[in-house]
Amino acid sequence: MLIILKHGSGPQEIESVVAEVRRVGYRPHVSEGKHTTLIGAIGKGPTPELLDHFRALSAVQDVIPISKPYKLASLEVSPKPTVLRWNSGATGGGEVLIAAGPCGVESLEQTLTAARYVKKHGAQMLRGGAFKPRTSPYSFQGMGQEGLEILAEARRQTGLPIVTEVVSPEQVDLVATYADVLQIGARNAQNFALLQAAGRSGRAVMLKRGMSMTLEEFLMSAEYVLAQGNMQLILVERGIRTFEKSTRFTLDVSAVPVLKSWTHLPVWIDPSHAAGKRDWVTSLALAGLAAGADGLIVETHPEPEKAQSDAAQQLTESQFADMMRKVRALLPALGRRLTQELEPA
Ligand code: PEP
Ligand code: MN
Repeated sequence: MLIILKHGSGPQEIESVVAEVRRVGYRPHVSEGKHTTLIGAIGKGPTPELLDHFRALSAVQDVIPISKPYKLASLEVSPKPTVLRWNSGATGGGEVLIAAGPCGVESLEQTLTAARYVKKHGAQMLRGGAFKPRTSPYSFQGMGQEGLEILAEARRQTGLPIVTEVVSPEQVDLVATYADVLQIGARNAQNFALLQAAGRSGRAVMLKRGMSMTLEEFLMSAEYVLAQGNMQLILVERGIRTFEKSTRFTLDVSAVPVLKSWTHLPVWIDPSHAAGKRDWVTSLALAGLAAGADGLIVETHPEPEKAQSDAAQQLTESQFADMMRKVRALLPALGRRLTQELEPA
């Protein structure tokens, strides 16, 4: 069950409820959010009497029995959609945010060029990997800290917040000093130590679905971040592995309505890693938004054929501009809108 404390509860109130949770044989898990403190009481399904017992405590706002294995991610705990906000705009609650940029940071010039044109065409966040998790140890591994410096310079010049990947728990502090959003990739989606470290960082987290993960497993990974008291989390469907070989992965569009019926967290689509081929990316992006996605993360490169990673799937600038025109045309028909656009820097 989940115990929601009254606003303004202090350490004494929290401790008294925690002690009571222990006394009745449950394991307490405290998540102190900005506004509300939640205490998960983990154990066997509570009886109605036990629920009423906790509801009667003076510090307690409400007690919710939760049948699902994921708790803090569930709509039961937070029936309202979570909205994440940056200077450039918001995602969730009807506002759609587009993050775009190269797969990997390769140089200052490449990153600045991409940052300027994604902003010009209407993106509100810059993506770019400085640490790249590659299938082969002989492939380009990213520029590391130098890449983070380049991203920070691109943010300074354009005002776009940055989403960039962190591949190990030891790197979280370093990446968090530069990034606005920590990306946890598909290959690390069940790296629980990394999820916990990212949860503790205080930064927003963007979690990609593992390529062989069920949606329930995906939310259990999200739970590792949320359980650290960090509710700033975006879920990304980026394609799963099926028997189909024509695309790089199979975009599971149905993940969007399913997740949105289970969780309050924003759900995004990554059409680039699913398609694997630039000519198919826009169709998948539009399909994801039509299905209800709260945002997109899209790869685009000033000279995609020269890219050091994921060359085949990165959009050219003109393809990106075309995708954005279609996104703008589609969203009003769905009763949603692109989040506010930045004034030119
Ligand atoms: C990426 O965004 O460049 C990436 C490696 O994505 P994924 O983890 O979805 O493969
Ligand atoms: Mn990539």
